[in-house]
Amino acid sequence: MTQLEAARRGTVTEAMDRVAERERVSPEFVRERVAEGQAVIPNNVRHEALDPMVIGRAFGTKVNANIGNSEETSDIESELSKLHTAVHYGADTVMDLSTGSDLDAIREANVERSPVPIGTVPIYEAVKRAGDATDITHELLLDVIEKQAGQGVDYMTIHAGVLLEHLPLTDGRKTGIVSRGGSILARWIEENGMQNPLYAKFDEICEIFVEHDVTFSLGDGLRPGCLADSGDDAQFAELDTLGELTRTAWNHGVQVMVEGPGHVPMDQIAGQVERQREVCDGAPFYVLGPLVTDVAPGYDHITSAIGATEAARAGAAMLCYVTPKEHLGLPEEEDVREGLAAYRIAAHAADVADGRDGARAWDDALSEARYAFDWREQFELALDPDRAREYHDQTLPGDNYEDARFCSMCGVDFCSMRIDQDARESGEMADIETDGDDRTDASATAAAEVNRPPVGTHDAAATDDGTPDDATRADDD
Ligand code: SF4
Repeated sequence: MTQLEAARRGTVTEAMDRVAERERVSPEFVRERVAEGQAVIPNNVRHEALDPMVIGRAFGTKVNANIGNSEETSDIESELSKLHTAVHYGADTVMDLSTGSDLDAIREANVERSPVPIGTVPIYEAVKRAGDATDITHELLLDVIEKQAGQGVDYMTIHAGVLLEHLPLTDGRKTGIVSRGGSILARWIEENGMQNPLYAKFDEICEIFVEHDVTFSLGDGLRPGCLADSGDDAQFAELDTLGELTRTAWNHGVQVMVEGPGHVPMDQIAGQVERQREVCDGAPFYVLGPLVTDVAPGYDHITSAIGATEAARAGAAMLCYVTPKEHLGLPEEEDVREGLAAYRIAAHAADVADGRDGARAWDDALSEARYAFDWREQFELALDPDRAREYHDQTLPGDNYEDARFCSMCGVDFCSMRIDQDARESGEMADIETDGDDRTDASATAAAEVNRPPVGTHDAAATDDGTPDDATRADDD
């Protein structure tokens, strides 16, 4: 029985119990959302290492990380290392988008080790096995999907909404069809003159998914690849088909989420999310970005995190991260880390704005630690503790600096929080001397005098290369 079938029958599963605990809601609340199709618990019955999680607008915003090899680069060890990095830095789900060698071994290793749901795009393996996209048969496609379901994959991107009738609608586009799955299927449809095989065989795919409780991630194969193509007829024609397929999957008892764009100008994002929710009857929306500008290759984790924040605010349930390598190359471990940081910020910012239970408490705890100069607590609470500690220690490396009431950003004389605190404590706020130009001479205050850096903590090596040395500067003053 799938999670959806169980929920409809009024059964609270172990996975729902666990999800309720993680989200701090009642199991019944989870069951109701799953029964209505407003939330999914990707949870293949063969994925034994999984710690169940939920994706839905009624819960915290989730983040997916894409990993995977390509023909040009990467092997199984580096893929497992990327999986580890993704989970370590907070990915809620991981998609294995491998298109290179050892596909089965990499997939099986990922499922065996991953505590988070694993997603795949089976059309990639179908192309590898067929040798050419146009040679894919219906039987081969179903065989690949069934095999991956049996390997424990929790959700699969199925680009069943790319229909023969939609392809002419992409003709005037600036960047054509940019989805890998979408472009493969479009070529197959054009060469064979037949309907999309994933659409034609959708009922049979549903039967496979029911058996293993695989969740659909209905792919947006016609998503816009640039701002100019956003919101065109092709994108919305496919969305209408995804709405139809959502209802078909639900009728089979299969869980569904729906994928979204892409590249979308900021002012269109909320409207597009709202449209998806209406067309797909509230099925969870899983968005890639969207990128809000096309002009920043190398920084697309930022351009897309801005759009992702807006999308989450408007109702998207899961954000697919984008790394700095987007459009440029295969992400490495450091790119996975950067992409995840950007997207966890986006998800959290939306959760804070939406008033999700416990979200703001994190910000408040970190701010209190910051104002108290409790550096260790501040690092501990940071979204990426290693990065926070590393940046702090680059200029103030001694242990004692973790007790200091300043950092190298403003320096000892101009640390505003220290000045503020001391002024409040001593009542000297109104007595701070000025130099006649109405500029505050904070170094002349009694508060500054008592807050010189601890003696003997300077790393001499750090000052040799020109690194600012606050103690020396203060003495020279
Ligand atoms: S020196 Fe500036 S940045 Fe550093 S703790 Fe003080 S106020 Fe904050």
